[in-house]
Amino acid sequence: MPVDVVLGLQWGDEGKGKIVDLLSEDADIVARYQGGPNAGHTVIKKGQKYVLHMVPAGIIHEKRCLIGSGCVVDPGQMFNEFVSLRNLGLDPRELVGIDLETTLITPEMRLMDALQEMGTGHGFGSTMTGIAFAYAAAARKKAVTVRDICDDSRIKILEEKVNLLVDEAEAVIVNAWRTDINVIKHACEAISDRDRNTYENLIIVTKTPNDLGIRENHLRFMRFFDLMSEDRILDRKAIIEYLTKMGDKLVEYGAVTDVFQEVQDVVNKGGHVIAEGGQGMMLHLLQGTRPYTTSSYTGVDGAMASLGFTHHQIGHVVGVLKAYVTRVGKGPMPTEDSAELGQLLQEQGHEFGATTGRARRCGLFDVMQASYALRRTGVDHLAITKLDILAEIPKLRLGIAYKLGHNRLKEFPRDGSVLEAVQPIWSKPLPSFASDEVHGVNDWNALGPNAKAYAQSLFEAIRPTCPDMMLKYIGTGPGREDIIIVPDA
Ligand code: GDP
Repeated sequence: MPVDVVLGLQWGDEGKGKIVDLLSEDADIVARYQGGPNAGHTVIKKGQKYVLHMVPAGIIHEKRCLIGSGCVVDPGQMFNEFVSLRNLGLDPRELVGIDLETTLITPEMRLMDALQEMGTGHGFGSTMTGIAFAYAAAARKKAVTVRDICDDSRIKILEEKVNLLVDEAEAVIVNAWRTDINVIKHACEAISDRDRNTYENLIIVTKTPNDLGIRENHLRFMRFFDLMSEDRILDRKAIIEYLTKMGDKLVEYGAVTDVFQEVQDVVNKGGHVIAEGGQGMMLHLLQGTRPYTTSSYTGVDGAMASLGFTHHQIGHVVGVLKAYVTRVGKGPMPTEDSAELGQLLQEQGHEFGATTGRARRCGLFDVMQASYALRRTGVDHLAITKLDILAEIPKLRLGIAYKLGHNRLKEFPRDGSVLEAVQPIWSKPLPSFASDEVHGVNDWNALGPNAKAYAQSLFEAIRPTCPDMMLKYIGTGPGREDIIIVPDA
């Protein structure tokens, strides 16, 4: 069937990149459908690490990679990623295509994001990449799109949009400036730190350490702001020049397309499309743990809206679950372990964000949460990743239900304050397993009995929600080949 949708069923970072990489081998198109450069997939092929922020994981198989109109793109960051891919011997030219209607993140949005996150005390754990502000601009019909910067005849429209966005942003920024200049300085520093993390990650990956590059990157960003000017902090001319230059570059790279048309052309010819999610179901703007969510639709709904296929064209929905849970940033997480076990999972699982370097909160698997995500999504094929990370973990258990006081809850609470207050009810302990029973195993029959029993217990615990779902993949290590394809029962 034509379009397979790969999505995360927890709070992101489930290892979707690796599953997309696996499925990409037979794909004609791999298309990212939501989010922006706040996501980060890591794929390891023959020891070489690829960190991707915007470009779909299909690039590693040198497949046609598309970015749908439901994403938001920071063009400067996009080109950093292109350069990093080229250093790894992958040429994004003619391979990567961004939809003409995709919304752009403009520089003032990052500052607004950092101000909201740090300055006002109303932060939601944002990555300070300006994503929520870009989606807000799109909802208000004011966003700059790829079309605006790639078509010379639209310069007037571009100028109008930038002036409008900047005027609005400046009112907020000047106000913050007058209230406390340090807030602006801290926000700029936070953006710089974040860029350093992302950029260093790209540098580590490309093995061309260049500290000057990090500074240059930051200076390039800072040229849009005049922090010495009290009422004209944002340089409109510089922003417009930057955007038109980025438009020229996108055209030069052959990176502009009509994603809907391309997807339909492939589907109509009987081809195969993989729709790649950026985050996870619990971060869905409407269905996740509000308000600690991302700003887009992370489910099949988002994929259909962004890439333009119908429900008749869906092949399989592939849900990806980590064998335990992690979460970055704020928000309820009932099975979180903030003591030794959580730290062990964090260390063994290398649970630090690919995009931000932020440590991820960790805990044991949460059946209530996963079942809720499954009810919201409907999954045909299940992938359980990072089973190897649970090797040697003593006191292995599943969080099977929630209690509030003495009451066992029947449903996953949608009220965030209730979710904050619940306590997990644990399964009886499951036998632990040794690392060599699971690590790097790629044959179901070679998987150690206790590791297999854990995967099966997890699957059986969530299956009632999705009775037709099949357990298809089990991740046993970070490498591309460290995966079991579970034979049909
Ligand atoms: P994504 O955004 O959902 O693709 O997830 P990330 O790339 O942010 O995080 C997943 C991390 O786990 C990456 O570093 C992967 O290389 C790694 N990974 C994926 N599957 C496995 C697995 O089965 N075992 C281990 N040890 N690591 C894995």
